[in-house]
Amino acid sequence: MIVTGHPPRNPQKSGLPGRLASTVAPVLERAEGLDEESGLRKLVAGNWKMNGLKAEGLTLARALVARAAAGDPPDCALAVFPPATLLMPVAETLRGSGIALGAQDCHAEASGAHTGDVAAPMLKDAGCAYVIVGHSERRIAHGESDAEVCAKATAARRAGLIPVLCIGESLAERERGAELEVVARQLEGSLPEGLAAGEIVVAYEPVWAIGTGRTPTAEQVGAMHAHIRRRLTAAIKAGAEAPILYGGSVKAGNARELLSVANVNGALVGGASLNAAEFWAIAQSCP
Ligand code: PEP
Repeated sequence: MIVTGHPPRNPQKSGLPGRLASTVAPVLERAEGLDEESGLRKLVAGNWKMNGLKAEGLTLARALVARAAAGDPPDCALAVFPPATLLMPVAETLRGSGIALGAQDCHAEASGAHTGDVAAPMLKDAGCAYVIVGHSERRIAHGESDAEVCAKATAARRAGLIPVLCIGESLAERERGAELEVVARQLEGSLPEGLAAGEIVVAYEPVWAIGTGRTPTAEQVGAMHAHIRRRLTAAIKAGAEAPILYGGSVKAGNARELLSVANVNGALVGGASLNAAEFWAIAQSCP
């Protein structure tokens, strides 16, 4: 099922309060999998990045749908973020499965002379519920500033999409002890105004952990997620109810430990999300 316009059949059972239940948590209607600290249902999201022709993308999506139908769903919500060319066929494949669809980026304008870009209303129209904004690969390779990321997140909200706002420090910033300050600045500079519960997901992705096989310790993740939770709660009314995902070299082998850390409300998974069995094993690791 594409989550947009399809609230869970029983939002109470999804374990999320009110509006959040009908947006962030798609389908897998089980009350388990709640984060002990925040009470939020976890979300495991697969960022396919610039990978996959139609045959591969559909094979991957079908494999996930088959697992979702097989009767042992993970205790978390699921979403996949294919490249833009695959959004519509993957949307068709996911329909009715409970797995939500997201895009990897959007333009800040709703339409216009922006050759090669995709607007948030187009993504909504293609069946997306989510859109990633501010991924470090875009902040670095495309020079996206916090203000631009904020404009994209605002455009996403206007279109009825949930932005997955990525923030995270570089290795040099962590080595000089600036990670808390950097992440707070990115968060506060990129958050749209006036967010209500269920209207944002934050993903903490240390740049040095993305695609490297390196991860922070559980203690480092816990300290950063607690910091983000405090800043989020101070910055927006719905801060206590915004899921904070961890991303960066999440694999089946380390998912349980990372997903068990307080204030880790799910995972944003890159490389490992290209393998259905591995992605499913990560989702099954939600405590
Ligand atoms: C990502 O780029 O969002 C990511 C988490 O990548 P990986 O899991 O491959 O480190």
